[in-house]
Amino acid sequence: MAKGFFDMLLDEIFDADWKGHRGEKLTERELKLVGFLGRKGKILRNIYLPKEKGETTEIDVVYITQKGIFVIESKNYSGWIFGDEKATYWTAMLPNKEKNRFYNPIKQNRTHLKWLGKYVGEEVPLFSLIVFSERCELKKVTVDSPEIKVIKRDRLYAAVRSIWDTAEDKLAEEQVDEIYGMLQKMTDVDQAVKEAHVKNINAKYKKADAAETALQEDVSEPTVQLQEAEESNIQKAEEAPEPGVEELLCPRCGSKLVLRTAKKGTNAGNQFYGCSRFPKCRYIQNR
Ligand SMILES: [Zn+2]
Repeated sequence: MAKGFFDMLLDEIFDADWKGHRGEKLTERELKLVGFLGRKGKILRNIYLPKEKGETTEIDVVYITQKGIFVIESKNYSGWIFGDEKATYWTAMLPNKEKNRFYNPIKQNRTHLKWLGKYVGEEVPLFSLIVFSERCELKKVTVDSPEIKVIKRDRLYAAVRSIWDTAEDKLAEEQVDEIYGMLQKMTDVDQAVKEAHVKNINAKYKKADAAETALQEDVSEPTVQLQEAEESNIQKAEEAPEPGVEELLCPRCGSKLVLRTAKKGTNAGNQFYGCSRFPKCRYIQNR
């Protein structure tokens, strides 16, 4: 594994303009990466995986290798980061002592791993990597599980390397290709939503199964309903955030989340959190 590759992987993880530039550019870059890597690993970004109830969950980056799949969640927060593997929220503190909180990225990625595992098969090893940008300092982050890494970007190479060196080869080249092909389809959000709906219909006939899943469920990622992100359905909340309450940050871009009200559709009148950078960032979650 050449170190140059990790510089490219970092570009993939932290390229903020990516979402707006799918298509030709994506294909060209991927071909370059695949050529560079030979058969050792393949990268995909922005994978929408079907969950229950016609919903999807979005994975930032996967790195598919003979060891298994590295599932990468990138975070661009500034300031001092405090967090515990078991807590629901983590805190980012700015130099002026302003505190903001964000959903625990380990739990967020655990949801990704759970649905990815269902999709690719439970026998494929999955490794959870939470990668923070240079803009922050991981002041006190407590992680007990050895298979989960919470790191800053300059530690990515070392983190992957340490897993790589201890993990057995589990996937043949053909399996890496097969998984890549399968997940590549899921970078198309429409396809993912379609599959999620099919899954939802099937789920009606598997109620016993669903009940079992519900029992095992950890605190799951705040739900994102894609259809709500349409501009026409959104209006900005007039009220200012309650004083004394730490503000929520967007898990995608690090800006503040604001309370909004759905104007149209089945959720009309319901409040939800949306990114303050809308429409540049379309992240939303249930209240
Ligand atoms: Zn955002």
